[in-house]
Amino acid sequence: MNEPFGIYIHWPFCSAKCPYCNFNSYIRPNIDELRFATAFRREMESLRIRTGKRDVVSIFIGGGTPSLMAPRTITALLDAVYTFWSVLPNAEITMEANPSSVEVNRFRDYRAAGVNRLSLGIQALDNIELKRLGRLYNVAQALYAIDLARTIFPRLSFDLIYARPNQNEIAWRKELEKAVDLADHLALYQLTLEKKTAFYRYYMAGKLKLPTSEMAASLYEMTQEVTQARGLPAYEISNHAAAGAQSQHNLLYWRYHQYAGFGPGAHGRFLEADCRTVTITECLPERWLKNVERRGHGIVHEEYLSQEQQADEMLLMGLRLCEGLDIDRYQLITAKPLPKNRIVELQEQGLIEITDNTRLRATAKGQILLDYIIRSLSVT
Ligand code: SF4
Repeated sequence: MNEPFGIYIHWPFCSAKCPYCNFNSYIRPNIDELRFATAFRREMESLRIRTGKRDVVSIFIGGGTPSLMAPRTITALLDAVYTFWSVLPNAEITMEANPSSVEVNRFRDYRAAGVNRLSLGIQALDNIELKRLGRLYNVAQALYAIDLARTIFPRLSFDLIYARPNQNEIAWRKELEKAVDLADHLALYQLTLEKKTAFYRYYMAGKLKLPTSEMAASLYEMTQEVTQARGLPAYEISNHAAAGAQSQHNLLYWRYHQYAGFGPGAHGRFLEADCRTVTITECLPERWLKNVERRGHGIVHEEYLSQEQQADEMLLMGLRLCEGLDIDRYQLITAKPLPKNRIVELQEQGLIEITDNTRLRATAKGQILLDYIIRSLSVT
């Protein structure tokens, strides 16, 4: 029960759907924020009975675009968390935001509501690329939002997408070198084509060309080199931070700790009567709202994870981290050792290493073959 515990809140609305996005997000002309905030509080009250008393180390308000919420709604959501759990004084309280002008004008209010870390969805530092990605701002607005956020929030992260259509090393290096000077945490994701997105349809119709896998690998390597050299080394495949600036919330997921998730399409994983429970809520906002109003929560799927399922999840999460997987904790949770013969094989292939006799981690070569490593070590 002493594992770190976090809260995830999902606000599922956006101003427009970006063509690459398959997140649980919706465009709605009118949103009754008060009604939603009341439902979030109700869902938290229901789940509090199941999680029991917890010390919260991190709250993450993600989406969708949570910065479209009025600051008083953010205040109401955080107030609900403080009512039902004990939020530690040094808890990380992150909110995702986009750099459009309406949202930027609310930064001070979000800070006043208690947000101490802003995660900006910048995605590109090039006007043509921003347009292609369907983003509703330009580079000047993005840089203004970053500058302002740095003066208001104690901590700042922003996201960029790379390996975009037609992107080459020169173009990406230019953006990346600009980015590393602007924040102490960067989330740098390679563009992946997700089914049901506009980009996927363009790709299938031959209207969108992605960099080759060789080019994508080269861009990935360059990303590691530049961020390492500039003091923001990777601590996870896509996340880079200066010393001490790692996202505590993300670490909570990757270290396989516990969290409760609220709002449409949110997931939770927490110990309940010593069983690790997964909860998944209804994705569609209107249906989630009605479910919560009718029965106190929007959960549509839940199960206790077997030790085998937990073993696989721990591997999947832990090997993403540069610090690797805590071997003792893996054995404690799963009640079985890692398969020795496969470990030796993967070591011989130069894909994994054991550090200090306590952690299993992917080597630089292994990081790009993680799926293969996980399949090799999987117990299911
Ligand atoms: S703003 Fe974010 S969540 Fe919304 S559609 Fe774009 S990428 Fe998806």
